[in-house]
Amino acid sequence: MGDFDGKQVLVMGGSRGIGAAIVRRFAKDGATVHFTYSGSKAAAEAIAAETGAKATQVDSADRKAVTAYVASCGALDILVINAGVVEFGDPTTLAFESVERLFAINIHAPYFAAAEAAKKMRDNGRILIIGSVNGDTMPFPGLTAYAVSKSAVQGLARGLSRDLGARGITVNVVQPGPVDTDMNPANGPMKDMMHAGLSIKRHGHVGEVAAMVAFLAGPDAGFITGAMHTIDGGLGA
Ligand code: NDP
Repeated sequence: MGDFDGKQVLVMGGSRGIGAAIVRRFAKDGATVHFTYSGSKAAAEAIAAETGAKATQVDSADRKAVTAYVASCGALDILVINAGVVEFGDPTTLAFESVERLFAINIHAPYFAAAEAAKKMRDNGRILIIGSVNGDTMPFPGLTAYAVSKSAVQGLARGLSRDLGARGITVNVVQPGPVDTDMNPANGPMKDMMHAGLSIKRHGHVGEVAAMVAFLAGPDAGFITGAMHTIDGGLGA
């Protein structure tokens, strides 16, 4: 018996990194898991084969595709919105098209996926959004658009917690600091600069983030909502 036996879980962006760890965690704990991916078909197929989860290609930048897919999933117990992208650069020269795409994936998709899922979500359901410590603090230049997007999802969680609370549905943001993934490899060029600002001087592991998601999605977290949960090795301390 697992903690999530019988639960219907959808992870938006589950082919790699933190999302793949979340898919693995819920599948291991007994849930029926669906997840989306965009470009990483082979990785998505490998995760699906390993876990028994169902993978579907849905571009989070495409609002109509996102809402149609979420609607097709029926009544969910747990929605995790993990898909996200980063764009580095000086905001005076960074292409506005890239920023628009980032906002579509990191802000618009979480809003529309959550709103669509909430139509049919079962009472006492859970909505988790993977934000970032950069929603609270931005210690480096070059990440303004990303920081905007991760602050925006804080407002989404606060507002939705009010809209959905009467049904026992909780809405929370998990805010990682540096976590070892393709987006932010532990041996990448920014490693020393990042670790200098941490109390725990290493990148986080994807399983550590998945464990926090599992707790917030579980039965002991029914009174936790509209809140930000930082897991950052002390970056914001
Ligand atoms: P990765 O780049 O390693 O993985 C990103 C995942 O999101 C992939 O599964 C990818 O799928 C999916 N994704 C990206 N764009 C789209 C899209 N348009 N449509 C559907 N899926 C998409 O990133 P991480 O695992 O590191 O990051 C996951 C989340 O955690 C993001 O929201 C990120 O902002 C956040 N985060 C990460 C931190 C870190 O240090 N790693 C720190 C703080 C927050 P595919 O490859 O198939 O397109």
